[in-house]
Amino acid sequence: MERIKCLIIGSGPAGCTAAIYAARADLNPVVYEGLQPGGQLTITTEIENYPGFPNGVTGPELMDIMKKQALRFNADFRHGHITNVDFSNRPFKITIDDSREVEADTVIIATGASANWLGLPSEEKFKGQGVSACATCDGFFYRKKVVAVVGGGDTACEEAVYLSGLANKVYLIVRKPFLRASKVMQERVFTNEKIEVLFECNTLGLFGENGVEGAHLVRRMGEPNEEKFDIAIDGFFLAIGHTPNTKIFKGQLDMDEVGYIKTDGVTTKTNVSGVFAAGDVADPIYRQGITAAGSGCKATIDAERYITETPCV
Ligand code: FAD
Repeated sequence: MERIKCLIIGSGPAGCTAAIYAARADLNPVVYEGLQPGGQLTITTEIENYPGFPNGVTGPELMDIMKKQALRFNADFRHGHITNVDFSNRPFKITIDDSREVEADTVIIATGASANWLGLPSEEKFKGQGVSACATCDGFFYRKKVVAVVGGGDTACEEAVYLSGLANKVYLIVRKPFLRASKVMQERVFTNEKIEVLFECNTLGLFGENGVEGAHLVRRMGEPNEEKFDIAIDGFFLAIGHTPNTKIFKGQLDMDEVGYIKTDGVTTKTNVSGVFAAGDVADPIYRQGITAAGSGCKATIDAERYITETPCV
């Protein structure tokens, strides 16, 4: 069976950065790219907050050059989705596409976390053209405009407050008649003149000729006093949570209640020695390209030290 010194799962910013460092440390990394080679940034257009690009860069271009940088040092990128792992003994056993197995001395997990969407066809149509799941990433494009945020938890409130610093008006669309967010966050929302909370509202769809121009909403859906109405908006932000891509690690790695992999302090070490987690998959807080890349670097440094200290026979 093939034996890999450093196996990296995922080829987003965390996986690619881990690959650059691992290749330069002679760990002969093999990267399995999964179903979304290049990761989440490949579905976005302009990135203006990744350092090193004063004029911005498109998501696909950024990921292409990150991969090229790793290839320059002979990182081995492969097609394939990891469908099973066995971390009970070293070397670890990894199954690819339910058909092939390899062994690995160390594993860096960089499988990301996918944003939850409402599942509306119009949401899909306008992704990147007015629909976003990341206020920190895209809020800047909506300065002095009108936006809506969907969600009633802490993240939604935080995003609404953040966007109110940029946009002229922010609607917060909340399904329930109350906010689930902490008292402090609720206070920030209710005292913010730019934020209007639309309680008991569901989004039926988005409309617009060239990008989002408005949303069809319904208040008290299915009740006798149901009320349909439209709001005019330029941007629609989802803040209804993320799902970490960790299903295949369940029962083997410690995770929080949502499924984010738990790491040890400031390191990328998981509860299994030799298995490391980097990027969004272990980060319920920041979830940015640059933070993912930074933790990819940390994961390889942790893996390299582990290999030196714990040679695998
Ligand atoms: P990801 O980029 O999610 O990559 C995960 C990788 O894991 C993928 O290659 C996938 O194929 C692979 N994978 C998953 N499961 C498996 C498996 N079982 N087997 C093999 N491979 C697997 N951040 C910014 O800093 N600036 C921005 O402007 C910005 N804009 C964004 C716009 C959008 C629309 C979105 C969705 C996100 C944006 N982000 C932005 C956030 C940024 O994309 C993420 O923080 C970053 O991509 C996380 O990197 P990652 O490497 O941890 O994971």
